[in-house]
Amino acid sequence: MVEVKKTFVSASDCDFIVAEVKERESAWKFYKDIYVLGNSFYRHLISTNFDRESAWKIYTETFDTDSFGQSILHTRLQDLYGVYSVRYIKKFSRPGYQIITQETPRIWHYDDEKLRYPYEYVFSDYKSFDYFDEVFTFTLMLTDGDFTYEYYPQTETKYKEEPEFYCRKHHGLLGDECDCDLKDPVKLTYGKGDLIIAKDRYLHRVGGSSFANDPRITLQGHGVRKNNILYIYW
Ligand SMILES: [Zn+2]
Repeated sequence: MVEVKKTFVSASDCDFIVAEVKERESAWKFYKDIYVLGNSFYRHLISTNFDRESAWKIYTETFDTDSFGQSILHTRLQDLYGVYSVRYIKKFSRPGYQIITQETPRIWHYDDEKLRYPYEYVFSDYKSFDYFDEVFTFTLMLTDGDFTYEYYPQTETKYKEEPEFYCRKHHGLLGDECDCDLKDPVKLTYGKGDLIIAKDRYLHRVGGSSFANDPRITLQGHGVRKNNILYIYW
């Protein structure tokens, strides 16, 4: 399931959050084609060629951000998932910001970075990713622009199942030229203040642009639910 929660955060709160992110520009880190404010384990994995131990060392030695946007996201998610307690994970960092200042390649992909986090350091009885009852990716759009989230509903897989690509050639594909049956993706439009919630995993890509004046800034986070607690982290 992928859904858009319209006006999850008000426009004025978005402006406040964006002002805070821009104030901290000296703390932005550049990774390949995007800037990041915050501490993302996955970025450290990429930068260490997926050496989990080295990535963990950098991750735990990097200061976690504390921002107005994070507390707003936490409060709103708690309102949305009222029956569950929404919590940060003490040993993991809180959600963080992605700042994109130029067009980036729109590649079809699955979000599988969540599988690589060292959950065993947090949950003593953790063995594999099917430990969790539900899995989420959250994207909160903070700036103006025409953006889309495109996905193929037929490529849904649960994390509890073995990953099974509908079309292997589509994973990492730039553009739409493929000889398989995947055509006409569902396009969800979203704008400033809207939250995208992607449950489980889909072949998807981000679309839309408007980088003429301002960067595209999002607050990103992962979520895993175990029993009655929804843990959010990055
Ligand atoms: Zn294909």
